[in-house]
Amino acid sequence: MDQLHLLWEYQKADVEVDKMEASIKRSPVRQKLIKYRDYYADQQNAMKRIESEVAAMQDRLEALKDAIKMTDEQLRSLHNKMESDPPQSSQDVQQFLNDAKRFQNNLNAYEQEIKRIRKDAADRERQQHDVRVRAAKAKGEFDKLKEIYDEEKKDKDQELEALRAAAKEKAVGIEPEYMERYRDIKKHSVPPLAALYGDQCGGCNMSLPSSVSRKVKAGGLVECETCGRLLIIV
Ligand SMILES: [Zn+2]
Repeated sequence: MDQLHLLWEYQKADVEVDKMEASIKRSPVRQKLIKYRDYYADQQNAMKRIESEVAAMQDRLEALKDAIKMTDEQLRSLHNKMESDPPQSSQDVQQFLNDAKRFQNNLNAYEQEIKRIRKDAADRERQQHDVRVRAAKAKGEFDKLKEIYDEEKKDKDQELEALRAAAKEKAVGIEPEYMERYRDIKKHSVPPLAALYGDQCGGCNMSLPSSVSRKVKAGGLVECETCGRLLIIV
């Protein structure tokens, strides 16, 4: 058998290996596993997002507590000043009242914001709980499926190994440059070898000049000018 026909026989075995690999990847159990894995990752990301939101809320709460303390002090010193040095004119009285009102408004705004943040924080806590429950459920489903998948994969891996061994046997006697060419073509066209039917490429069905089939018949290595597959007459 010449090199090209050895390669043709090898390709048949190689196609079977690829089919089995694809079937392992397409396995519904595997697809489901990937879904659970992605869902679990989503929940973890959600958890991280909520945690950073809660941390930002805590920072803001600290800042608000400081602001309240400062405003309290401002109010107190305003009162002290009022007592030790009472305003003389009605204008001074108005000024004092304005200041007191401004501080009081600030205090009210800070307290409102604290209330809002506490409520948001409670919401976040509920969200965190829900996310945690969902993540644990997904993890549980994942683990259960993983056992089934591992069992299924064990069988398929055995089949795959047998097919790979068969392909390896078919590769015996093929010169390295032929194998290299095969692998190079396989990067863009699968399978890499195509039978020539008359003047037509069996890979892409395009008609080729009759000179091509003459070259192939003469034992030349010719690639289809359309799909790039190595042509063979079988
Ligand atoms: Zn072609």
